[in-house]
Amino acid sequence: MSAEIIDGKASAARLRARIAEDVRALAARGITPGLAVVLVGEDPASEVYVRSKGRMTREVGMTSFEHRLPADTPEDALLALIAQLNADPAVNGILVQLPLPRHMDEAAVINAIAPEKDVDGFHVINAGRLATGQTAMVPCTPLGCLMLLRDRLGPLAGKRAVVIGRSNIVGKPMAQLLLRDSATVTIAHSRTADLPALCREAEILIAAVGRPFFVQGDWIRPGATVIDVGINRTEDGLVGDVDFVAARQRAGAITPVPGGVGPMTIACLLANTLTAAARTHGLPDPE
Ligand code: NDP
Repeated sequence: MSAEIIDGKASAARLRARIAEDVRALAARGITPGLAVVLVGEDPASEVYVRSKGRMTREVGMTSFEHRLPADTPEDALLALIAQLNADPAVNGILVQLPLPRHMDEAAVINAIAPEKDVDGFHVINAGRLATGQTAMVPCTPLGCLMLLRDRLGPLAGKRAVVIGRSNIVGKPMAQLLLRDSATVTIAHSRTADLPALCREAEILIAAVGRPFFVQGDWIRPGATVIDVGINRTEDGLVGDVDFVAARQRAGAITPVPGGVGPMTIACLLANTLTAAARTHGLPDPE
């Protein structure tokens, strides 16, 4: 039996349509949410992301502010721009596209963003808030994965989840979100012993490793829900971290790459910007 394909593209389109509706409702109150994206340097992959973020921001009726700085911009100049965006009431969300050039201190730059405008959810305050169960801005990729999981599985309480990867932007917040939903969570990484056996216990398996075809078909517990976060550029195009063809024979449901987690990430960025705008105006969080 072949797994159901989780259509992230369709889910993301539905989410964006809901956001566009909420943006129209805010417009009736004279509020237009704004997202500022800052790109330093000319990394081609970042260029693509920034362009599609800008386009989708405009498509849902928000204002997109795009700031492009040369690769040799001093860190102080970037911090000054962030301070200006922090103070600008038209800007509800600020995203500094990573990676930054090597001469910059990524943590210092991210932590300069006002936490309530940190729509990537990478600020140390937001990471701490998520970890301690307080209202936070949640990183977009894990938030998108959580939505796909809830759509497919309903309540996640008691489910056994394995997250492969412990980065601050995917693995750790993913584990926090699953824990918040009362799943039983194990975080695996490069030092984990007998990863295949651990994966075989997982009803929910999240792969955020960054290595093509890393997760083998026979690591999948029959019927498991598999979320492949990986985006790996190979000669054959974009592939995930999971051996999709083999995994599909055992999983109950699986996200494809492309067309799975990726589109949800950008939609969640817009959702976070909407949430930030609502909170600024003392309105309840959108659904
Ligand atoms: P990082 O490189 O920061 O983290 C990778 C993680 O994988 C690390 O925790 C590392 O462990 C672990 N790992 C590496 N090798 C092994 C191994 N042999 N066995 C077990 N664990 C291993 O990557 P990111 O978290 O930033 O991204 C992960 C993937 O997700 C990438 O392909 C990236 O492109 C993609 N991505 C996709 C997004 C989307 O929108 N779909 C958004 C963000 C990322 P250790 O800590 O021990 O080194």
